[in-house]
Amino acid sequence: MIPVPRRSVADRTRRAALAAAAAGLHPGNPGAEAAAWSISQDAASGAPLYEFQCATCRKMSKTSEGGPLAPEVWALRHTALHPSHRSYCSVVTSFWRVALVGEEVRP
Ligand SMILES: [Zn+2]
Repeated sequence: MIPVPRRSVADRTRRAALAAAAAGLHPGNPGAEAAAWSISQDAASGAPLYEFQCATCRKMSKTSEGGPLAPEVWALRHTALHPSHRSYCSVVTSFWRVALVGEEVRP
């Protein structure tokens, strides 16, 4: 017998929240149409964008597309210039799209 992976409470909660939100997209017919919508990352809009912000002086790194390496290097250099500035906030922007299930999403 092949074990069936159990869904976590967080996964079930996430799916329920998404279904409830999707139902809101069809105010006249919430039940039947709710499952027709899905949300996923939109690769056509580009890779995620990464930035770091110094928690002490609020200066921002430049935006880096696809990975956090450049903002991490910026943070290390920023602390080297300002030794008391050691906390940073990472800001990641990713792109998402809502579509009908089975709908072809064009770039
Ligand atoms: Zn700073």
